[in-house]
Amino acid sequence: MSAEPVTRTRPDPKIGELLAAGPTYSIELFPPKTDQGRANLQGALEELTPFGLSFVSVTYGAGGSTQDRTQTIVDDAVGAGYTTMPHLTCIGSSRAHLRGLLTGYHHKGRRNVLALHGDAPKDNPELTDVGELKRAWELVELAREVADFSVGAAAHPEGHPAAPDRETDRKHQAAKLQLADFGVTQFFFRAEDYLAFIEDLSALGVETPIIPGIIPITDAKQVQKFAAMSGAEVPAELATRLDTVADDPDEVRRIGVDTATDLAKRLLDEGAPGLHLYALNRAQATSEVLRNLGLPREV
Ligand SMILES: Cc1cc2nc3c(=O)[nH]c(=O)nc-3n(C[C@H](O)[C@H](O)[C@H](O)COP(=O)(O)OP(=O)(O)OC[C@H]3O[C@@H](n4cnc5c(N)ncnc54)[C@H](O)[C@@H]3O)c2cc1C
Repeated sequence: MSAEPVTRTRPDPKIGELLAAGPTYSIELFPPKTDQGRANLQGALEELTPFGLSFVSVTYGAGGSTQDRTQTIVDDAVGAGYTTMPHLTCIGSSRAHLRGLLTGYHHKGRRNVLALHGDAPKDNPELTDVGELKRAWELVELAREVADFSVGAAAHPEGHPAAPDRETDRKHQAAKLQLADFGVTQFFFRAEDYLAFIEDLSALGVETPIIPGIIPITDAKQVQKFAAMSGAEVPAELATRLDTVADDPDEVRRIGVDTATDLAKRLLDEGAPGLHLYALNRAQATSEVLRNLGLPREV
């Protein structure tokens, strides 16, 4: 019996190197649950092609929910001409399984990975304890062992909800980010939170480039839910503005795009190495923000 053929594609450029020539402009996607969702996502990727994005990242469901689909969507994005960064979580997995996934990605030409621990799904909390790797930094090291990946790690400028206090939080994040080639943050709305985070990391001796994550809001309720889960805060003034137009999706998107644009400009002015937009698999709000930032650039 022959093994499944491996489709090799041109190796991706490494994000660490793209950042050195930055700023990078990138987006996060998630694997859709249906064929229709996958077709819609392919349409969105096509619409975003003219912007020449530096890379797209694809989330990975901790606990098995969407894991195979991550590879499918990475393949789709590669097929559409994008450089990719698959997310990978170690929770609930053996070292051998993770090694196999990383080797498979490398054989196909993938050179970037976001190394995560991941959170246990609500219906399977014991998953936290059964994984062989207990922290994201162990996966950063495993990826390096397997091949010459450019490895990213998650960052939480407003602090991680599991941290008992700010000092523990910063030390935890600094240890992880010190080992990685770059960090990508949870979304946030105040530039000051990112700038204070970078300053604190620097005081702890960490100079790893940290790409800020920005969400162009298109759904006020959804962003509040995501924020509550991740420890981010939607500032009261923004929440009130969104509440007053909650029944008008175009107006919600306009506020979301304006807010994301202002934050992106400020962060770039302050020296952020790139921007990672939480696109939620749709092109419209993302392309409006990118256009506001002057993309696509004339060559
Ligand atoms: C950009 C980005 C992308 C993400 N993509 C995914 C994804 O694709 N799939 C997915 O399942 N999850 C994803 N997450 C969520 C992430 O895995 C969780 O937030 C996780 O709890 C912390 O990050 P970590 O995975 O780097 O693990 P680690 O930092 O190693 O955390 C492992 C455990 O340590 C504790 N902990 C975490 N941070 C701190 C801290 N600062 N101080 C003290 N204790 C801490 C928690 O109990 C956590 O479960 C993403 C997060 C970010 C910011």
